[in-house]
Amino acid sequence: MSKERTLSIIKPDAVERNLVENIKSIFIKNNLIIQDSKKIHITKDEASEFYKVHQSKPFYNELCSYLSSGPIVVMILEGENAIKSNRKLMGATNPKEAEENTIRKLYGISIDKNSVHGSDSLENAKKEIEFFFKN
Ligand code: UDP
Ligand code: MG
Repeated sequence: MSKERTLSIIKPDAVERNLVENIKSIFIKNNLIIQDSKKIHITKDEASEFYKVHQSKPFYNELCSYLSSGPIVVMILEGENAIKSNRKLMGATNPKEAEENTIRKLYGISIDKNSVHGSDSLENAKKEIEFFFKN
């Protein structure tokens, strides 16, 4: 076990439906401390930079338009195995395939409007935290 930090994003579909506090309470109940949190509205260029790893995918353009379509909440979560723990709480990318009681099962609308993002590795968590919380 080791203490880690990971980046979580509450995507526009969930912010729009007033789900921020519900989602934050899931993290808190599961021992992930919200170290920092801010509501922002990013540009499509910023979204394209953030999701650059997906630039060759057929859904890249729509994904970047979507993430910049409305306000999002970006958070630093900290806890034991925070990266894996957050991914487990999120559930599968496609809400239809997500396990019961995961955030995406509870709140996700579709594979693109799936309510949350979470870093997938230690290396990406570092990069993604830096991306939103540099100052
Ligand atoms: N996505 C999509 N269509 C797909 C696969 C992914 O719109 O067929 C979107 C979805 O919002 C997902 C994001 O692209 O959350 C990043 O994809 P990834 O495979 O990294 O999924 P995640 O790590 O978010 O579970
Ligand atoms: Mg991913």
